[in-house]
Amino acid sequence: RVMTIMNGWYTTVADPVMARDKAAAGRSAASEFGGDQLTSVAKLLQDGVHEELTLLGTRRDALNAEAKHLEYIVTGMLGAGLLIGIFTLLFTRRQVSDPVVRLTRLMQQLSAGDTGIRVPYTAQGDEIGALARTVEVFRAARTERLRLAADTDSLTGAPNRRAIEASGTRLMQEANAFGRPLTVAICDVDHFKDINDLYGHSHGDAVLCEITALFREALIVPEQYGRFGGEEFVLFFPGADIDRAREKVEDLRLRISRLRIGDLPLRLTASFGIAPMSASDLILSDVIKRADRALYASKEAGRNRTTVDRQAAAAF
Ligand code: GH3
Ligand code: MG
Ligand code: MG
Repeated sequence: RVMTIMNGWYTTVADPVMARDKAAAGRSAASEFGGDQLTSVAKLLQDGVHEELTLLGTRRDALNAEAKHLEYIVTGMLGAGLLIGIFTLLFTRRQVSDPVVRLTRLMQQLSAGDTGIRVPYTAQGDEIGALARTVEVFRAARTERLRLAADTDSLTGAPNRRAIEASGTRLMQEANAFGRPLTVAICDVDHFKDINDLYGHSHGDAVLCEITALFREALIVPEQYGRFGGEEFVLFFPGADIDRAREKVEDLRLRISRLRIGDLPLRLTASFGIAPMSASDLILSDVIKRADRALYASKEAGRNRTTVDRQAAAAF
């Protein structure tokens, strides 16, 4: 019986509740058998179990404390993780998402032709800065392309009337500021309508392109010539007095008369009118008007010639 009880204690020692029951059974066994030896064995076993129970209780408390400790650590880590997550989300949004969205909107505006925007973040040293600088390069290129398109004649690629008026006005200001002469010439292709009528509009276009190429090559500086409209061109000669300008214009006129358009049997000529900027000229159209009058005189006199307007003296 004692052995059975001991066996029970031994196998249930891990379970404090059952062990407690077995300890009670041990006590009753001791009283049941009554013998001295059995009593002392039962007593010993009872004490052993009691000791074991106390040990187990201490262990359980230690384990409980450890579990609590672990629980705190895990809770703390979860909280910290959550905070880091929220912080990362806010940081990413502020530092990455918002700038990318803003730069994307600016690119859309640029694509729609709005080049008056200011690109932010360009001074940043990170990837957003690099992206912003790329947008800025795109903006500058786009602005330049739009400006060029606005100032360029689409058929010939020559500066258009708008560009001529801007550069002519600037050249007048410079001439006045530095006290140097400025001579203006107008060129008009002779019987251009006949070229269109005889050989077709596309050949008329080719004539305009050939003349533009000649001016471009001979005058070098693009601000100094342009297509004023139709088959009329304006030329500026800054720093050249009327005689010097006349020489240059005559050279151009002769070169035009030697131009060949494909194998067309046409004899291309142009008439020119020249006028110097005078002291009474306030705006560009004042001097252009006189050059135009001289051009008209060239036409009247039989075309393919150059006429100088002598009605107003040169300012310098
Ligand atoms: P003039 O010697 O008196 O200058 O006679 P013209 O025939 O040159 O002048 P007119 O003003 O009678 O005709 C000019 C023509 O130029 C009429 C117009 O159809 C043509 N023209 C204007 N712009 C262009 C163009 O871009 N391409 C072509 N092919 N023709 C053009
Ligand atoms: Mg004309
Ligand atoms: Mg003409």
